[in-house]
Amino acid sequence: MTQPMYVNGEWITSSDGETIDVFNPATEELLASVPNGSADDAVKAIEAAKIAFQEWRWSTALERAEMLQEAARKLRDHFDEVVELLTLEQGKAISENEEETEWVVGTLDYYAGLIRNYRGRVVPSADRSQFNFVIKEPYGVAACIIPFNYPLLLMIWKVAPALAAGNTVIIKPSDHTPLTTLRLAEIVFDHFPPGVVNILTGRGDRVGDVVVEHPDVPVIAFTGSTAIGQRIAALAAKRIKRLHLELGGKDPFVIAPDADVESAAEAVAYAALLNAGQVCTSTERIYVPRDKAEAFTGALVDFVGTLRLGSGIERTTDMGPMAAPAYREKVSNHVDEAKAKGAKVLTGGKAPEKLVKGWFYEPTVLVNVDHSMKIMREETFGPTLPIMTYRTFDEAIAMCNNSDFGLGACIRTNDARLVKRFFEEVQAGTIWINDPLTDNYGGPFGGFKMSGNARELGEEGLESFLETKHVHWDFDDKIKDYWYPY
Ligand code: NAP
Repeated sequence: MTQPMYVNGEWITSSDGETIDVFNPATEELLASVPNGSADDAVKAIEAAKIAFQEWRWSTALERAEMLQEAARKLRDHFDEVVELLTLEQGKAISENEEETEWVVGTLDYYAGLIRNYRGRVVPSADRSQFNFVIKEPYGVAACIIPFNYPLLLMIWKVAPALAAGNTVIIKPSDHTPLTTLRLAEIVFDHFPPGVVNILTGRGDRVGDVVVEHPDVPVIAFTGSTAIGQRIAALAAKRIKRLHLELGGKDPFVIAPDADVESAAEAVAYAALLNAGQVCTSTERIYVPRDKAEAFTGALVDFVGTLRLGSGIERTTDMGPMAAPAYREKVSNHVDEAKAKGAKVLTGGKAPEKLVKGWFYEPTVLVNVDHSMKIMREETFGPTLPIMTYRTFDEAIAMCNNSDFGLGACIRTNDARLVKRFFEEVQAGTIWINDPLTDNYGGPFGGFKMSGNARELGEEGLESFLETKHVHWDFDDKIKDYWYPY
């Protein structure tokens, strides 16, 4: 079955009939096909969004807030159905997809609330006849390009503020996970005027470049790999487009000298293995004091050994598969390279023998690793837990910062002095102290260094979709003494 894409309020196939197959990563079964959109389809979506913007931009903030809340209500009504489809196409444990879907509802509500009260500001004027103020305007058509790991969450972190601000959107889902997003067009976004929300499926290199380069798309919000982000940045630079990049990470987790090793092991396992390690802020580097290394490592190996791998749809599953074979190959490649350079695998390091179907990879604890290895330097995006030891806290902080990335960083400690040093000195967009990977609607999310240049959530997330305009108004139209002639 081919599930058509959603452009201008209509369901269409690709103009050249090409399709993309979407698989269940836990069973390798074909779920459905979607159109592999063509350049013509991309242009059709851009034109529809551009026309729709002419009216949508003048809707009131109150009207837009109510439409976002209506979307949230509809999603609550279809909650279980959406969670199930998301689990089938993305693979992670169903409870994690429930959480993702809750976040979508919450984000719609959050931006509906924020836009009701959002305003520019009045600036002190230099003359009594003058009035100076700052207004915020939508850009126009916003392209929202989404990765596979949180197809709905990362979509709504862009789409809710973009719509709230008065932009129209083109959503480009990952070709691994387009189905739930398309379903939302039918049951959640169907009350928006045609062209305000468009869902363009198709391979990134077919439709992506067209959308990124097109002059009628002034803002691009992209979440994905640093490599594709660099490509998009280069293309968008030609027209100085507004570009919001949320890219890869290599997040560190520091176990402080005062931390209890048993609970630290559970915190680290959660931070590294949530969504099979396919979270941009997954813990991918673990730093533990030298004198606690043995106890911590033992506790971690024991704990990950209790986790149950399987299809995300089963309530008993703790960890699902990788989303596609290529992602598992990358993990395997990082582990093999580390082993070749002297790393020791304490548990895992392979696909589970019992699960013949599905792109599973076992939680993998490694020691004897160092920063020359890909597993400590490049984004692995899988269930790996490489552990290094440190002697001093200075050394731990230096190790955290020894990375091209700077998305998030976690620490386990109750020592306030270490907490302060950690959040002041570690170069990362989010610092988690004792509660890894927990987000907050009002707390901006984004990266330092090669992890990106933008922030989602919070007021910053709304600002990403608003252009700032300063208005200087003199209501006394007399000739000024500072005009010509001098
Ligand atoms: P990806 O390969 O970079 O793809 C992301 C999106 O970009 C997909 O929709 C993809 O489409 C599209 N794309 C590919 N080529 C394109 C092009 N030339 N022009 C425009 N779009 C193009 O990333 P992924 O493998 O899906 O996701 C994993 C990555 O996302 C990791 O690096 C992870 O760290 C990052 N991530 C970052 C954050 C954050 O907030 N910083 C959050 C989550 C994930 P197709 O799939 O159809 O090719």
